[in-house]
Amino acid sequence: MEANGRSASGSKDGDRRIGRRALIVGSAAAAVGTAVLARDELGRLWWRTPGIDRPREEGAVDYRGARWVAASEANWRRADRPEDYGIDMVIVHVTQGSFASAVKAFQDPGHQAAAHYIVGQDGRVTQMIRELDVAYHAGNRAYNERSVGIEHEGFVDRPQDFTDAMYAASARLTAGICARYEIPVDREHIIGHVEVPGTDHTDPGPYWDWPRYLRLVRRAATAGATATPSPSARSST
Ligand SMILES: [Zn+2]
Repeated sequence: MEANGRSASGSKDGDRRIGRRALIVGSAAAAVGTAVLARDELGRLWWRTPGIDRPREEGAVDYRGARWVAASEANWRRADRPEDYGIDMVIVHVTQGSFASAVKAFQDPGHQAAAHYIVGQDGRVTQMIRELDVAYHAGNRAYNERSVGIEHEGFVDRPQDFTDAMYAASARLTAGICARYEIPVDREHIIGHVEVPGTDHTDPGPYWDWPRYLRLVRRAATAGATATPSPSARSST
């Protein structure tokens, strides 16, 4: 660990960004042909690149109400969303087990899957993967790259598992995600794992109350409860 707190992986990422920056300068200059415009373009893109003005911090969360517990790095892929992959979808899952068992599974490098968030029946929210990164939760590469995955504690065949506290907390979380990435609040963009092409998963199952959930997300979005970004939240522009 260096004095400035950057890890080895942080330095590697810095190299990658410098590579991209050089590419941006090159293509912008070729496109507009003047140094002044190229510099303007560079400035704009620099501002938009989240990793540059908002470095990764240990324990930082994207949602103010979440507590951070890191997933195993085997269960996600480092990315720089929404710069490299646009985010236009939230995918709803059900854990088929307890909150604790889901946390444990996502910490297990052999599990080969994890979601960004887990919402408990008591309304607690744990974030395990940054929204910057691609979590392996949908069983479909393209859908993983474009989505944020939210697990809900319970079993698909037990409607009593889907508590008021869980719906409310998840709706606030999803409203915040939709606001950050300008995702429309509708069933085209907020989907169940079961709706992902190629999946054999059935979650969240027949007892997940979609009309109620969408209503709660819209209400949370309108209330502006999530309008003030947390210190670690990134600009949606
Ligand atoms: Zn699932």
